Amino acid sequence: MSKNLGTALITGASTGIGATYARALAARGYDLVLVARDEARLQALAGEVREEQGVTVEVLRADLTAQADLAAVEQRLGGNDITLLINNAGMSLKGGILDNGPEQLERIIALNITAPTRLAAVAGKAFAARGKGTIVNIASVLALAPEMFDGVYSGTKAYVLNLSQSMAQQLSDKGVHVQAVLPGATRTEIWERSGKDVDAFPAEIVMEVGDLVDAALVGLDRGETVTIPPLADEGQWEALQAARLAMGPGLSRREVAPRYRQTAEA
Ligand code: NAP
Repeated sequence: MSKNLGTALITGASTGIGATYARALAARGYDLVLVARDEARLQALAGEVREEQGVTVEVLRADLTAQADLAAVEQRLGGNDITLLINNAGMSLKGGILDNGPEQLERIIALNITAPTRLAAVAGKAFAARGKGTIVNIASVLALAPEMFDGVYSGTKAYVLNLSQSMAQQLSDKGVHVQAVLPGATRTEIWERSGKDVDAFPAEIVMEVGDLVDAALVGLDRGETVTIPPLADEGQWEALQAARLAMGPGLSRREVAPRYRQTAEA
């Protein structure tokens, strides 16, 4: 039965974190639009969710790195029924910046940066006009830990975190909530898709995908802008934020900082 929560559009819904959000949001009473490339998987999930939760589920096959497909998703996202965007589709690379050519580098930027930016922009405008809506952007803990991985994937996720924090600030007084979710290593296909074996990691650093999404939704219910499901000590995040914000007044000045002033001899 409809709870009038509206419709959630989920990118990367055919498996992993996106498919898990689909099941969890349907259980909460959302109707769904499921977006990914693998239409057969999306249809199978749609059938399962309709049957188990009785919500309306639409499938929108799209390669978010293809202009026409991305435009079609933007158009659907502008629909009046959409109340929640889960900006989740993403990829990693086999190897780092030195191991990949221009095509792969363009591809990860298109999927992890361009597509979520364009979708967040469309949702942000539509939700602000209606004074209501939620945007969830899936970043990564690697946004905070570039030394732990290749810089390309980490960099795309740092972008998503930065965009989310900025949008949250800009849209909070317009009735729009923006949340960035920063998963740590989570057991999904992204690892084998990028040539890595998640089972080779110590078991205690890998989260199950159901736990990750349940925790992310608790963070959303708490009204968080940034949710880091594995981080037990919330004070560490708060300390980082406080240190960052304390720099604010010093970040743009007429005067060059003393350590950068040229000496008379130079
Ligand atoms: P996944 O299991 O590989 O799923 C990725 C999803 O994105 C799939 O539904 C895939 O579907 C879709 N996708 C991939 N390329 C696409 C394209 N060109 N156009 C449209 N959809 C596309 O990965 P996941 O772990 O669930 O990842 C979801 C998000 O979480 C990503 O943004 C990822 O960076 C982030 N994340 C994951 C982890 C982790 O450890 N798993 C950690 C931190 C952050 P199709 O193949 O059917 O298109």
